[in-house]
Amino acid sequence: MELPRRLATRAVHAGGLDHGQPAGEPTQPPIVSSATFRHGSMAEQEAVAAGAPGYLYARWSNPTVAVLERAMADLEGAEQALAFGSGMAALHAAVVASGIKPGECVVCAEDVYGGTVALLRHVLEPLGVDVRFADLTRPEDLDAALSGPGVRLVMAETMSNPRLRVADIAQLAAKAHAAGAKLLVDATFTTPVLLRPLQWGADYCVHSATKYLSGHGDVLGGVVAASVSERPALERVRRLAGGVLGAFEAWLILRGLRTLVLRVERQSANAAQVADGLRGHPAISRVLYPGLPDHPDHALARRQFTPGLFGGMVAFELKAASRAATFAVLDRLRLCVPATSLGDVETLVMHPASSSHRDLAPNERQRLGIGDNLVRLSLGIEDARDILADWQQALAGIAVQ
Ligand code: PLP
Repeated sequence: MELPRRLATRAVHAGGLDHGQPAGEPTQPPIVSSATFRHGSMAEQEAVAAGAPGYLYARWSNPTVAVLERAMADLEGAEQALAFGSGMAALHAAVVASGIKPGECVVCAEDVYGGTVALLRHVLEPLGVDVRFADLTRPEDLDAALSGPGVRLVMAETMSNPRLRVADIAQLAAKAHAAGAKLLVDATFTTPVLLRPLQWGADYCVHSATKYLSGHGDVLGGVVAASVSERPALERVRRLAGGVLGAFEAWLILRGLRTLVLRVERQSANAAQVADGLRGHPAISRVLYPGLPDHPDHALARRQFTPGLFGGMVAFELKAASRAATFAVLDRLRLCVPATSLGDVETLVMHPASSSHRDLAPNERQRLGIGDNLVRLSLGIEDARDILADWQQALAGIAVQ
C-alpha cells in the first residue's frame, strides 16, 4: 500500500519518470540530463558498477552522449568513439591514453593549433615528457625526429593550422609504427566528409567538435575515435580527469552532424570559389588552399581527400606586411566575422599571429610562416559572391596603395 505523501515530498517526486507512451516514439534522441541513474535492484546497480552495460553516473557515460558516440564511430569507420567536453580535453585524453611516460617522447608536427603546442609544452613537458616538434611533411625531418628510443606518440593535423599543409597519414602511420609509436591525428579541419584517418592507419582520430561537426558556433565539444582496445585507457582518463560532454551539448553536436555533409560540401565549394577570386588580387601576395594546383600538397590532397573536395579553409598573405594594415582590412569587413574559431555556418576570419599562435615567440612564428600579414578564412555557407564582394570592398583601401 502506498503511504500518503505530503506536499514537500510530492514536489520532489511527483510525476515520476516518463517511460514512454504506449505508442509514438520520438524521432530524435532525448536529452537525458540526469547526473545519476537508478536501477531495478541493488544487484543490478552493482553489476553495472562492475562493468555490465548500463548507466550509473554521468561522469561515466550518458545516453544522449552515447548516441553521439555511436554516430561518430559510424562516420569515422571506427570501432568506437568517445566524446569529451572540448577538443582540448579530447586531445589531452588521447595523449595520456597512449601510455606516454616521463622520459618518453612525443613527436609533433610544428604547424599545428597553438593550443596543441601549449598542451605539450605546458602540461606534458613539465611532467618529464620529451616534446619534439618537426616539419613532418618532410620525410627526412620525420625520420630524424623518429630516430632514437622512446618515441611513444606522433601527432599531426590532417590539414594544418594555419598554413593548410596536408599530412600524408599512410606515411606517418607506417613510420610511426615502425618506430614503435602510435599516431594521433587531429582531423578537425577535414571532418569525416573529406578523410577518415583510421582507415589510413592512424590510431587516434581527434576532433574539436566545436567546429565543423556541430557547425553552428554554439557548443564546445571533442571526440576521439579509435579501436576498441583503446577504450579502457580513454575512458579512464575521461572518468578521472572529468573532461566529459554534457547531454545538451551532445544533442547540439548531433543536431549539427545531421547536416555535416551538406555544410562541408557547400563550404568546400565556397572556399574554392573564394580562393580563386582572391588569387591575383593586387593587395594579396599569396593564397593558400589545397585545392589550388600551386599548393605544395595539392597532389596529396587529391589522393587522400574525397574527390572534388578540398575543405572549407583558405589562408592568404597580404602584400602589406604590418599588423596594423592587416587589422585595418579586417576592421572594414561587413559580412565575414572576425572571430577565433572555424567550421561555422557563417564565414569566420582569424588572424593567427594575434590569436591561435600568439603564445609563440615572434621568431618562431616567422619560421613557421605565420606573419602579421597572414589571414585565415573559414568559409561559411553563405553565397560565395557575397563573401568575395565583402573582401573586395575591405581590400579596396589597401589595393590602391
Ligand atoms: N584542434 C584544432 C585543429 C583546433 O583548431 C582547435 C581549436 O581551435 C582545437 C583542436 C581545440 O578545440 P576546442 O576549442 O574545442 O577545445
